[in-house]
Amino acid sequence: MSGFLVVEGLTRSFGGVKAVDNVSFTLAKGELLALIGPNGAGKSTCFNMLYGVLRADSGSVKLEGQELIGLKPRQIWRLGVGRTFQITATFTSMTVVENVQMALISRARRAFGVLSSARNCYREEALTLLDLIGMRPQADRATNVLAYGDLKRLELAIALAHDPKLLLMDEPTAGMAQSERRALMQLTADLVRQRHTSVLFTEHDMDVVFEHAHRVLVLNRGRLLAEGSVEEIRANPEVRAVYLGGGATFEAAHA
Ligand code: ADP
Ligand code: MG
Repeated sequence: MSGFLVVEGLTRSFGGVKAVDNVSFTLAKGELLALIGPNGAGKSTCFNMLYGVLRADSGSVKLEGQELIGLKPRQIWRLGVGRTFQITATFTSMTVVENVQMALISRARRAFGVLSSARNCYREEALTLLDLIGMRPQADRATNVLAYGDLKRLELAIALAHDPKLLLMDEPTAGMAQSERRALMQLTADLVRQRHTSVLFTEHDMDVVFEHAHRVLVLNRGRLLAEGSVEEIRANPEVRAVYLGGGATFEAAHA
């Protein structure tokens, strides 16, 4: 496996709690890697260190050989690491297509004053991206009238507008119905294939994880419990034990 992203010994404590404890893994180019684990396992803490919004106590994160630990989020973003964001209040006043245009403009690092001057900038490219996520018919709708699932898809389009080499998605489908979760991850899987993007994602619904992930990492109490293919993870007794609390089924534990 190529070492596109190489994480070694990533560690972070909060008070006496080791939220992430000596975690190491690699992510290959074009790989869709799931990071799963029960609530409080340390997934978000991992993501936050990868984004550069949280300082690591120790460890190394190398993207194509370049150390990310110690860099600011903006610098990490410039190296081609994208993430799905919650849409901010500022953006809800704009239309769907304008949101994507803003991201494209920001990618080009072009200075702009007011939105009116940017209104026609990158419109075609933005529409192409909306086509990709199946939202072109909604291009000129106001963002604040979108259904939640569409907002999450738009969030993905905005992340993609930055054309990331690596996309980090911490619970991109939070709050979505299962059919929407499936659709969003299917879309992500298709994009990974088309663009050869590498993706690290968390998702609560095991069915969705098992359907789309190329490989799975299991985190428990800050430690990497298991790593393997979907089949290996499904059959792993230790992983099953972690999810089997109270006699629920593996699947039902995440319903
Ligand atoms: P997950 O995303 O897997 O649910 P988190 O990374 O959010 O887990 O949390 C891992 C552990 O670290 C938990 O015990 C949580 O309470 C703790 N933790 C996370 N962020 C903070 C913080 N900012 N301050 C104190 N403790 C935190
Ligand atoms: Mg979390």
